Amino acid sequence: MSAPDPDAIANWRAIRARIAAACEACGRAPESVALVAVTKGQTAARIRPLLEAGHRLFAENRVQEARAKWPALREEFPDLVLQLIGPLQTNKSADAVALFDTIATLDRERLAVALAAAIGRSDRRPDCLVEINTGREAQKAGIDPDAADAFIADCRERHGLPIVGLMTIPPADQDPESHFALLARIAARNGLARLSMGMSGDFEAAIRAGATEVRIGTALFGPRR
Ligand SMILES: *Cc1c(COP(=O)(O)O)cnc(C)c1O
Repeated sequence: MSAPDPDAIANWRAIRARIAAACEACGRAPESVALVAVTKGQTAARIRPLLEAGHRLFAENRVQEARAKWPALREEFPDLVLQLIGPLQTNKSADAVALFDTIATLDRERLAVALAAAIGRSDRRPDCLVEINTGREAQKAGIDPDAADAFIADCRERHGLPIVGLMTIPPADQDPESHFALLARIAARNGLARLSMGMSGDFEAAIRAGATEVRIGTALFGPRR
C-alpha cells in the first residue's frame, strides 16, 4: 500500500477547479479540457493515490522511465491512458508504440517512418500529435510552423499515421499566447481536434486559446527533485 498523498490529491482537485473556471470564463464546457498529469520523476507510490482517486490520464517524457513504472500500474488500472510527451529516438519506436496510447512528440520525417513501421508490426495504433516548434527555436524539437501543413499531409497520406492533433512547448522567455494561437490556427486548417498546450504556469491562457489538453507536473506534485 502506498501512503496517501493528500497534497497531490488536494492539488489535483484545485487544478481541476481552475480548469473548470477558466473554461467557464471563456464559454467552454469544462469537459472540453483534459488534465494530463505529468509524472516524470515521480515514483509509482506518488502516482497511485491519483489513480485511486479516479484520475486516468498521465504523461511521461522518457520511454525507459515509463517502461519501469507503468506496466505494473496498468495491470492494476487497465483503463489508464498514457502519453509520451518527450523526445522519441527512432530506435525506441516499437517500445513507444507498446507503452503509450498517445505519442505527442512526432517531430520529424524519420520518426514518422519509424513509427509507421512499428505500428505496422504491432496490434496497437497510438494516436499521434505533431509537435510544432512555434517559437522556431534552434535548440528545440518540433516542425517549423511553415512546414507544418506539408508534414501533417505527409504523415497522413504517405505514412498512414493516425494524426489527431498538435502539441507545442512555447519559448520559456516569451508570452505564450501568440504561440498557443498559432498552434490553434495550424490545427484548425488541418482539421485536427486535439491541442496539447499549456503547463503549470500558463494553462489558463492555453485554455483561452483552445487547448483540449493541458500538461501539468509541478502544480500537481510540487517541484521535481
Ligand atoms: C515536464 C513537462 C510538462 C509539465 O511541466 P510543469 O511546468 O511541471 O507543469 C509539460 N510538458 C512537457 C513536454 C514536459 O516535459
